[in-house]
Amino acid sequence: MDYYDIAETWSRDEIEAVQAQRLRDTVRRAAGTPLYARRLAEAGLTPETIRSPEDIRRLPFTSKDDLRANYPQGLACVPRSEFVRMHCSSGTTGSPVAICYTKKDLDAWAALMARSMYATGIRREDVFQNMSGYGLFTGGLGIHYGAERLGCLTIPAGAGNTRRQIKLIRDFQVTALHILPSYALHVAAQLREEGEDPRSLPLRIALVGAEPYTEETRRRIEDMLDLKVYNSFGMSEMNGPGVGIECEAQSGLHIWEDAYLLEIVDPQTGASLPDGEVGELVMTTLTREGMPLLRYRTRDLTRILPGPCACGRRHRRIDRILGRSDDMFILRGVNIYPMQIEQVLMSFPEVGENYLIRLEDEGELERLRVLVEIRESSFVEDMRVLRQLQESIARRLRDEILVSPRVDLVQKGSLPRGEGKAQRVQDARSATMVPEVARGATMAPEVARSAALVPEGARSAALVPEGARGAAMAPEGTRSAAIPPEGDTA
Ligand code: ADP
Ligand code: ZN
Repeated sequence: MDYYDIAETWSRDEIEAVQAQRLRDTVRRAAGTPLYARRLAEAGLTPETIRSPEDIRRLPFTSKDDLRANYPQGLACVPRSEFVRMHCSSGTTGSPVAICYTKKDLDAWAALMARSMYATGIRREDVFQNMSGYGLFTGGLGIHYGAERLGCLTIPAGAGNTRRQIKLIRDFQVTALHILPSYALHVAAQLREEGEDPRSLPLRIALVGAEPYTEETRRRIEDMLDLKVYNSFGMSEMNGPGVGIECEAQSGLHIWEDAYLLEIVDPQTGASLPDGEVGELVMTTLTREGMPLLRYRTRDLTRILPGPCACGRRHRRIDRILGRSDDMFILRGVNIYPMQIEQVLMSFPEVGENYLIRLEDEGELERLRVLVEIRESSFVEDMRVLRQLQESIARRLRDEILVSPRVDLVQKGSLPRGEGKAQRVQDARSATMVPEVARGATMAPEVARSAALVPEGARSAALVPEGARGAAMAPEGTRSAAIPPEGDTA
């Protein structure tokens, strides 16, 4: 194995020994905050009693609400003067939380990011363009310093201004990128529109992450840009990107277990789940100095992939994120995840690079409407062909989500698209009957269909992060471009 950091070569025993020791140190530091001091005391734990990762399972989870309640710096365990940077989460699902970093934290983060990039095959000879927003979002500076650490010529392009992005790629012979999946599809479509053959560009690797996407979307990005896509995972609460990455085997994301403790729990009961079972990812920082977090409930749904990876690394792998527990919405009593819809849409070659899921009233009932951009070449087809396409998309969606949607085919470019994370679901229902459920009581996709639980925040169509707000507008203006289904008078 060609590795960047010796920790990548460790055996399970070595990883676990380091984890136990770092966990003890982490708990000792965390005990310096009022929140964790209280929780440790209540659980009857002291740093000295922590012998293995199992021991902190007696500690309650840290939730996003704990972070919000302790905003901005209530979970700091070093003096304020020790911090040199702060970042915020994007606030995709509610008000943001803030994370502060010491110099040592930034250094460790850059090293993890460099290691992640190296694992995908990026080397110092690569020219790396970071196409995610800079500023508070960790995908900007976090990735940036990793790329510099690795030694790449690093272009801080930021998000948006697609023409300039493409020009930079050409002018600087960019070989590697970091980009959000929704934006990658857009850039790829624009390249095609400009008549550019991606094979004439030297691009070879893209780190793609920050929001969920399906295997179908990965393949599409790979085809359209003629490069390899590696799934890159992280979140502000765990520094940012650099938490997990796909290696060259492209089969699941290695979580760097020397830096993070990994658990998968049943989202409803909190009970620990065995490898292979889908649940909520729970993480503990093992090397963070300024603001350690213990058993943080990420709300991301995934599973640990059993068995070793072909690359030889023994850091365990997780499956691609299936969605956030709070992404799920309920329509006519059925629990649906946006990724179930994306998976169907992206398997149709006629479907373009953008879509929008709208939940609407239809008299007394609720209706699921899916607006789908169609490739230009397909849009010129005659009405009969388009209707057939529309019907077969609707049929496949119904088979997948068990609800009959109304599918509107719209012209390319007619759906709103922001520069940040895509806002795929728009809830325009007037009355919502949200059953009262305990916080965090959410379900894995496998079981999602049987019961009708609404996770906290599931209706948060109004809680849109600053930059993405434009992306969440009603597609009224797109109506003229839409082809209503047969017999629909709306
Ligand atoms: P926010 O939670 O407000 O979006 P962040 O910018 O910190 O804030 O985003 C972290 C979240 O982004 C993760 O918890 C996860 O839901 C999502 N995410 C990050 N990388 C990926 C990825 N590769 N696949 C799916 N989701 C991802
Ligand atoms: Zn691997």
